[in-house]
Amino acid sequence: SPQALLDARDHAFARVQEHYYAAPPRIERGWRHHLLDTDGRGYLDMVNNVAILGHGESRIADAVARQLRLLNTNSRFHYEAVVAFSEELAARAPDGLDTVLLVNSGSEAVDLAIRIARAATGRTDILALTEAYHGWTVGADAISTSLGDNPGALESRPGWVHLLDAPNAYRGRHRGADAGRYLEDALVRLAELDGAGVELAGLVAEPIFGNGGGILLPDGYLAGLADAVHARGGIVVADEVQVSYGRLGAHFWGFEQQGVEPDVIAVAKAMGNGHPLGAVITTRAIAEAFAVEGSFFSSAGGSPVSCVVGSTVLRVLDEDGLQENARVMGDRLHAGLLGLCEHFPGLGAVHGMGLYLGVEVVAGGPDAPDPDGAREICEALLEEGVIVQPTGDHKNVLKIKPPLTIGEEAVARFLDALERVMVRRKA
Ligand code: PMP
Repeated sequence: SPQALLDARDHAFARVQEHYYAAPPRIERGWRHHLLDTDGRGYLDMVNNVAILGHGESRIADAVARQLRLLNTNSRFHYEAVVAFSEELAARAPDGLDTVLLVNSGSEAVDLAIRIARAATGRTDILALTEAYHGWTVGADAISTSLGDNPGALESRPGWVHLLDAPNAYRGRHRGADAGRYLEDALVRLAELDGAGVELAGLVAEPIFGNGGGILLPDGYLAGLADAVHARGGIVVADEVQVSYGRLGAHFWGFEQQGVEPDVIAVAKAMGNGHPLGAVITTRAIAEAFAVEGSFFSSAGGSPVSCVVGSTVLRVLDEDGLQENARVMGDRLHAGLLGLCEHFPGLGAVHGMGLYLGVEVVAGGPDAPDPDGAREICEALLEEGVIVQPTGDHKNVLKIKPPLTIGEEAVARFLDALERVMVRRKA
């Protein structure tokens, strides 16, 4: 029975992750943006921000198989793949960010970025925002504040972490305000920290709130904050783990949307299309300060197989024009979702851009987030053969971050399914 399978999973695999559904489908295989469960039911995957090229991508599978037969080892050996991939990745970064360190996940990339910021500045303290998620490792967890991931996230912080209120213009204190209003608050907070003798090693920020619900930061906010941090001798780390690799359509990196050039980029997820792969990209000067400071070695980070995956992902992204597809399909999806928001008061707003979207499920307006409604909509969508999950501080945002392969047909199928679900809820 489905319950017996859930119980078996909870026994074998620590019960630390959400199931999302009362009876989650057992997924057996995937192809592009489609998934198939063990009962032969098909689903449209509207949520998978890891498999950016889609599932079962044969160019990746072939490259991995070939490299596995040739050589896989730790990065203490010298081989071509690590040089090639590091160069290709740095070529995507802004000028001056030309040095790469390879790890296995987003959490590791963020943790390493914190260590690098400390080494480069000789300082310890980090500035971060609320409504953010940066990972599960000790350092990344210390600056992860999204209440949807951890309801106790704001209760205790290590002394080296300083938080700014998220500039969430959809709800909260300064609803609808522009960046200037939020920056005023940020500068007051920074002045308090200055007064208390706090010296920041740096700022770590997501350029768009990922697990916070896909909310765009007010235009100019991150640039203003980055200036204030730089003026204090700190460095700016962009957590690009979710938002990068062309998912935004108009931009390859999330920080471009905010007109900011970070000193350090932490990236993962899409860069391996599901294979464990993460990186920090920074300037040579910062990387060298870190190299002097201490040792860094990751056994599997930058392995030949990981590097071949990384290079192939970048190649396929270009060959298939997936960033452009994210722009075109994202606009379609956005327009369709806005139309549904107009018809159904339970859908409050559409956040994000490209194929990085979130739909607020509310009971009357921004101040009444409706997590039960969001869960019910996700259950009903599952019945329709569509996988979407709730996210956000209140768990009331429908997270819509499909593989970048989706086309017109999948967009229409998803919008039709959501419309049917909303009509049934009204009836
Ligand atoms: N930063 C952000 C913005 C993320 O969304 C995530 C993962 N959801 C992480 C860091 C951590 O990445 P990983 O799960 O690969 O450790």
